[in-house]
Amino acid sequence: MSQQEGRIQTRTCVVCRERRQRGKLLRMVKIPEGQVVFDRTGRMNGRGAYVCADADHWGANRRSASIDRGRLRHALKTEIDDSTVNLLAEAIKLHTTERLNQQGN
Ligand SMILES: [Zn+2]
Repeated sequence: MSQQEGRIQTRTCVVCRERRQRGKLLRMVKIPEGQVVFDRTGRMNGRGAYVCADADHWGANRRSASIDRGRLRHALKTEIDDSTVNLLAEAIKLHTTERLNQQGN
């Protein structure tokens, strides 16, 4: 499949199943070593899954439910344990905070 310019690339969030512009989603990748990491660049090799960047799928707001791990696990076909979820949530929080700071300058 070739990339066509002028067309908005959309991806489906594995948690809420909504189709969104790629820029509004974050990519998680299962790297060859078997770990699941946050793909900041969107270009890492491996099986990837997209999750909304602005939705609270990660439990950043601790009162709400954290990510539906089952769906991410299904999408990446691997186990996602608590520490992985925590690492991903931290990386994403940092990423979104940096982005907000950049917008503020
Ligand atoms: Zn979503």
